[in-house]
Amino acid sequence: MEGLGSFLLFALFFYLMMRYGCGAHMMHGHGGHAHKKGDETKQIDPVCEMEVESDKGYAKIYHGTLYRFCTRNCLDKFDANPEHYLNKRPGEKDEM
Ligand SMILES: [Zn+2]
Repeated sequence: MEGLGSFLLFALFFYLMMRYGCGAHMMHGHGGHAHKKGDETKQIDPVCEMEVESDKGYAKIYHGTLYRFCTRNCLDKFDANPEHYLNKRPGEKDEM
């Protein structure tokens, strides 16, 4: 009986390890919750090229892509001529 008792204890310990311990990480290694990358929390305002945090500013979906603007002013400028801001070369500033 003694041997069986310790075996059950070991089995319980092993189960708990797999369930809650480092084993759980191996079980859920792929898929599941997505890690937040740095570039997912901030977006570039296409008008003034400032970084805008995802919970700030103004958002607009244009052609299925979400754009984010630091101010209403930038959003209005984008609305007036979206292609101008989306087609300009990287680094080119808007001079208006
Ligand atoms: Zn802006």
